[in-house]
Amino acid sequence: MLKAFPALIAMVLSLAGCAAKEQPPVAEEGAPKDRPLEIYWVDVDGGAATLIVTPSGESILVDAGEDRESHADRIHRVAGQVAGLTQIDHFVATHWHGDHYAGATRVHQRIPIRKFYDRGFPGESDYASKGDLQRAKAGIARYRETTQGRSRTLKPGDEITLRQSEGLPKVGLYCLASAGEFLPTAGNISPNPSCDARTSKPPDQTDNAQSVVLLLSYGGFSFLDTGDLTWEKEAELVCPVNRVGRVALFQISHHGLDSSNNPVLIESIRPRVVVVNNAPKKGAEPETMKTLMGVEGIETIWQVHRNLRTGPELNTQPRFIANPEGEAGQFIKASVHADGTFSVQIGGEGTPESYPIKSSKTATDESQG
Ligand SMILES: [Zn+2]
Repeated sequence: MLKAFPALIAMVLSLAGCAAKEQPPVAEEGAPKDRPLEIYWVDVDGGAATLIVTPSGESILVDAGEDRESHADRIHRVAGQVAGLTQIDHFVATHWHGDHYAGATRVHQRIPIRKFYDRGFPGESDYASKGDLQRAKAGIARYRETTQGRSRTLKPGDEITLRQSEGLPKVGLYCLASAGEFLPTAGNISPNPSCDARTSKPPDQTDNAQSVVLLLSYGGFSFLDTGDLTWEKEAELVCPVNRVGRVALFQISHHGLDSSNNPVLIESIRPRVVVVNNAPKKGAEPETMKTLMGVEGIETIWQVHRNLRTGPELNTQPRFIANPEGEAGQFIKASVHADGTFSVQIGGEGTPESYPIKSSKTATDESQG
């Protein structure tokens, strides 16, 4: 079985102030007992909109695409018609770029969002140019109107407390990084050997580097969403010690752009499955795809779109691409069961690709790698 995250994280989380923590709600009456944990990657044309639905029916939308009718419609369709939701319980904006937070207002108009979380509001000095600042100001003002000033700032170590289902493993949602800060590390943890091969790029001055990083765990399964975290900050997440551990499923950083997806991150988390939320002409860039194809242990790369700018050698196999010809709107879905087994499929009707639990011998061998 995969290790969700090292003892380090569990220890730090239990010690942390957990500012976002609150009394866990009781299990919802009448929720089906055998509902898997579901994760949907809604196609928002190379933005991000990742919908998580827990076995008790509680929902978390991480990012909401652009401020566009088509994006809000697709998110609403998946949330309402596919996942059967009547509200979004939690919305997390990973950072202040339009392809992540700007769609929240239109989504909220279609399906109510109950709680909002973000990295905290930026100051004027956080922007490289006046143009960036002006664009962000208008968008953030609209977001604040939508939240009625009630959004909460996530800090590293916070847990978004979720409703649990009796007899099922705990569903945990943890903030590992926010606004450029990371979960503190304990002194007695061994250094991460993958950091020896770390390479550097110039520091990123944009809001991408400030992205909220979330780790979702359910029994032996774990899912990492790094928002648009970029190269140097990705290294900081796992160096000198690995704050994440191995994960079962990884949403590629920053849509698969080459300014992100530092090999030291991907080597350190060694995902079994990667989902690339790209667009036909955005993301899934060559260096990132080569990195993914070269990391041992990655069983499948799924793409929301085929990258039309590269050839088949730098795209995944056609059957793992949700929107192969530039058409839009098809989503990718993962279903995770209580025993840690999970499957991934395209749309509601696609053939599920199963990822059974690995034998203990294999898991042990790999956890030492
Ligand atoms: Zn983005």
